[in-house]
Amino acid sequence: MYPETFLPYDTTRRTIIFTDMDGTLLDPETYSWAEAEPALTQCRRWSIPVILNTSKTRSEIDHFRQSIDLPWPYISENGGGIYIPPDCPVSLNVSSGQNKTPGQVAIGVSYSRLCQSLERIAADTGLSLTGFSRMSLDDIMALTGLKPEDAKRAANREYDEPFCLNTPGPDALTRLQEAADRLGLHITSGGRFYHLHGRFDKGTAVRQIEKYFREAWGPIRTIGLGDSDNDIPMLAAVDIPVWVAPQNHPAPENISHLRQSSLSGPRAWNQVVLSIINSSYSDR
Ligand SMILES: [Mg+2]
Repeated sequence: MYPETFLPYDTTRRTIIFTDMDGTLLDPETYSWAEAEPALTQCRRWSIPVILNTSKTRSEIDHFRQSIDLPWPYISENGGGIYIPPDCPVSLNVSSGQNKTPGQVAIGVSYSRLCQSLERIAADTGLSLTGFSRMSLDDIMALTGLKPEDAKRAANREYDEPFCLNTPGPDALTRLQEAADRLGLHITSGGRFYHLHGRFDKGTAVRQIEKYFREAWGPIRTIGLGDSDNDIPMLAAVDIPVWVAPQNHPAPENISHLRQSSLSGPRAWNQVVLSIINSSYSDR
């Protein structure tokens, strides 16, 4: 399915794509990747790894990646975990450490510590916060628009606690961040929720996976696609950063050589990835 004989025209640097899911590869409302399918087909044809890098859980990603037909490693919960699926076509030298599932690399801190810490942060700041662990399945479904089975996968968390800030104020995020810092933790702002997690980000995991692929393949070229603030560390870590948010969501200013499209979401994904593949991969 992923023939090694289809090598890039420029065989000195193989391409690897890191991508956010919601609002990037997936439509923000329908969660469909259909509009990116032409580019995904080319990625399959040329054995270009498409590495999902998202705030979603391992359960959610595993479900999607099998539907999308992506046998590549993936990054869960904002960089908290790396998983190498058993059907990964490339043999990667991954040290999972002691007492870990084969193919799993834990970067983040434990979920139980995060849940306790969120309560502490709420008490310290006096802000009203509701984490996923305190929400019912119905609450999660109402906030995300997910169906029951998908909401269950979203609630199966390991390294990141999404939460709602019920009383937003001008300095609320700063106060939250200061309280998280005191506990050695970090807060990022995603598309729908704030997220509490250890001191890592989507870029930490990208650099780790780059290392695995460089050991296997030699020099590589990395593309990163995202649409939210929590994607910025990923975009800063890749060779070709691509911003696919709608026009009313301004691009980050501190990323050099950032590419943008007049389109957004999976339509932009399709346009930009096809353009890069067409300019560097050829049958001739
Ligand atoms: Mg997103």
